[in-house]
Amino acid sequence: MGEQKTVWDNPAEIIRHLQPEHPVMVFAPTVLQDRARQFIAGFPGLVTYAVKSNPEEAVIQNLVSAGIRGFDVASPFEIDLIGRLAPGAARHYHNPVRSKAEIAHGIAAGIRAWSVDSASELDKLLAQVPTQVEGEGVEISPRFKLPVLGAVYDFGSKFGASPEYAAEMLQRVAARGYVPSLTFHPGTQCVDPGAWESYIRVAGEICQMAGIAVRRLNVGGGFPSYRVQGVEPDLQAIFDKIAETTAETFGENAPQLVCEPGRGICADAFALVARIKAVRDGANVFLNDGVYGGLAELPIIGNIDRVQVLTPEGRPRPGERSGRVIFGPTCDSVDRLPGELNLPDDIAEGDYVVFQGAGAYSTVTNTRFNGFGQLAHATVMALE
Ligand SMILES: *Cc1c(COP(=O)(O)O)cnc(C)c1O
Repeated sequence: MGEQKTVWDNPAEIIRHLQPEHPVMVFAPTVLQDRARQFIAGFPGLVTYAVKSNPEEAVIQNLVSAGIRGFDVASPFEIDLIGRLAPGAARHYHNPVRSKAEIAHGIAAGIRAWSVDSASELDKLLAQVPTQVEGEGVEISPRFKLPVLGAVYDFGSKFGASPEYAAEMLQRVAARGYVPSLTFHPGTQCVDPGAWESYIRVAGEICQMAGIAVRRLNVGGGFPSYRVQGVEPDLQAIFDKIAETTAETFGENAPQLVCEPGRGICADAFALVARIKAVRDGANVFLNDGVYGGLAELPIIGNIDRVQVLTPEGRPRPGERSGRVIFGPTCDSVDRLPGELNLPDDIAEGDYVVFQGAGAYSTVTNTRFNGFGQLAHATVMALE
């Protein structure tokens, strides 16, 4: 699609003009910038972007334009990417498990904020990481966890220490001369503000147990995107709950707040345009993209039902909607969307299904399994 228009009006215009045979990931930079500004204005602290959710260069550049000045990075690749695209921005190396070579890479890149969730990984940091970089203290944040609350996906099963263990690590961090902070991640697509409330209260208990006042409290990512019709996330309600609980828990000496949203910032700025390859015997729908491509997340966290079905002329199909089983293009039987998706009765082979809110954990997890996954990219003014 390279020689075509550089900015289209919307997905319908792309479909009408190109009738693309391969899936297209459609990006609306204005939507991304608006969302970033909403976080910056509404969140009571520093907003850092979790690069892993969508590391496209255009995403990073638009976030920098919108005023994002910090990034949550998880690997040497992401450290270098942000060093190149956003020089001077804060980089928080918040993958709590790293090889010695990865730690050395972070040190050479000038990383000043690290997280950790185990004594053995903390030993590795203490042995290698300086306490100061260019005259500023280096921060180490124990990451703690609670049983999963309100999120659709349990990150706590892989990362996070118990509150008692986090308190012990906090004491070691402070004793060794690093800046003591705390971090947690409530789990992705967390629609319940109460999850942050529980975590912040426990952060207060950890500080009391440890006898340490932390400089910063990172409340993680997990901010929801708009995936299901009629359940539009209320980000401001979450921001307000975070501010209120922090004030109640810590009073005058409240730590500075940091958040590290991925999905909440990038997901709703993209739509995935997939083509219907077949409506097999009038029933099951086969798309040219599936769980090995841009829809990798759906079996894990559920269907996106904000979908439009457009004809090859870019016109919406007006039919009554009813449930259909949707398969992806590969020959693997797991290449199927969970449950059923409501699609218009008059859908036909050659139509397009536009999945809204598809920008997180989609371009990055796209594979070339079975020779599919040739994902094209396009930029639009608006997503509908
Ligand atoms: C993945 C991740 C994030 C971003 O999560 P979202 O649910 O996309 O907001 C933030 N922090 C950490 C530590 C992560 O691993």
